[in-house]
Amino acid sequence: MKLDVDVLRYLSKDDFRVLTAVEMGMRNHEIVPAELVDRIASLKHGGTYKVLKNLLRHKLLHHDSSKYDGFRLTYLGYDFLAIKTLVNRGVFTAVGRQLGVGKESDIFEVACEDGTVLVMKLHRLGRTSFRAVKSKRDYLRHRSSYNWLYLSRLAALKEFAFMKALEEHGFPVPNAVDCNRHCVIMSLVQGYPLVQVKELQNPETVFNSILGIVVRLAEHGLIHCDFNEFNIMIDDDEKITMIDFPQMVSVSHRNAQMYFDRDVECIFKFFRKRFNMSFQETVDDADGSDIDTDESSRPTFSSICKASGSLDKELAASGFTRKDQDDIEKFIGGGTEKDIGSDDEGNDDGKDTGSDDEGTDNEHAFESNETDVNGFGSLRLVEKDESTSNCNK
Ligand code: ADP
Ligand code: MG
Repeated sequence: MKLDVDVLRYLSKDDFRVLTAVEMGMRNHEIVPAELVDRIASLKHGGTYKVLKNLLRHKLLHHDSSKYDGFRLTYLGYDFLAIKTLVNRGVFTAVGRQLGVGKESDIFEVACEDGTVLVMKLHRLGRTSFRAVKSKRDYLRHRSSYNWLYLSRLAALKEFAFMKALEEHGFPVPNAVDCNRHCVIMSLVQGYPLVQVKELQNPETVFNSILGIVVRLAEHGLIHCDFNEFNIMIDDDEKITMIDFPQMVSVSHRNAQMYFDRDVECIFKFFRKRFNMSFQETVDDADGSDIDTDESSRPTFSSICKASGSLDKELAASGFTRKDQDDIEKFIGGGTEKDIGSDDEGNDDGKDTGSDDEGTDNEHAFESNETDVNGFGSLRLVEKDESTSNCNK
């Protein structure tokens, strides 16, 4: 998705006021009635309607008149609210190139005043779990606030809380810098996802250090649940950093053993295939698939859990509540990066609204982009005004 942050510079205080009013309305409405937006924004002389038009033109809102005249935020609109808040807080000053399109996120480089480059992860829950969300319609019907906006914010909150806690306990994770709405700011990992690495100097050392992380996590009471070559970064010195935490669960989760075994198996399988590592213990099962016969070399869930710590409980106390965990698990428990198809890409909220509102090029309503030498569109002109922002940190 194109993230034309230059538009930010031209948005007025009133534009953000109305955008925030729509966001607030979305707590209780999937589509926020125009009159409600007007009431929340309370701009003088019907100013809201003019502003709504402007926001629509820039694809920050989507207009829906199927049931009544109303609006909802687009991903871009939500992105802008988060970015503006973080820029106003002084977390970063400019947004740069896109680093990746994850399973349920868009990742960008951002730059700080002093030139430090950080990573901005914009969560897009509902993009690929559209099917899951759809299958939960019954549940959603009675709770309209359980929309992509809420779920994406929850995913970001969870990722931030876990990253921070893991860092404090000495795990190799990015430094968690800040979080707002569906957006997490973290340090840039120098390196590449393991999936891109064809050769290693010391595959055994790397294998052991990766497996050691899975074991240590479980000893602390946690399971990553998507621990594979896509979510393990490795640098030129073959140092490992683990990323991507919204799907983590406690070892007390009812499917904990299955998730743990799956994480372990992913690592074995990848190293076996990619680096031809043999684990001796592998023999062919009757149906031709590999099975493991030597349990002594493979960490087992039951032995680790006996000694498990309580990082999961600490996290529950960190602002990411048990209810948050339950809510988010309904949507992202289970699926892994590798087995999720991309057929739902681009559908931002799981609703087929004949979406003509996103992902298309901007209409050149604004002047041409000014980018500085690093390719960072400068956001320095954004107004320093938090008053209209609804910061859900
Ligand atoms: P998703 O949940 O969508 O899979 P990830 O957190 O796994 O998102 O990130 C997707 C990709 O973005 C990663 O595979 C990696 O290439 C890149 N990435 C994510 N976080 C960082 C980071 N802190 N530093 C460098 N690259 C990152
Ligand atoms: Mg990932």
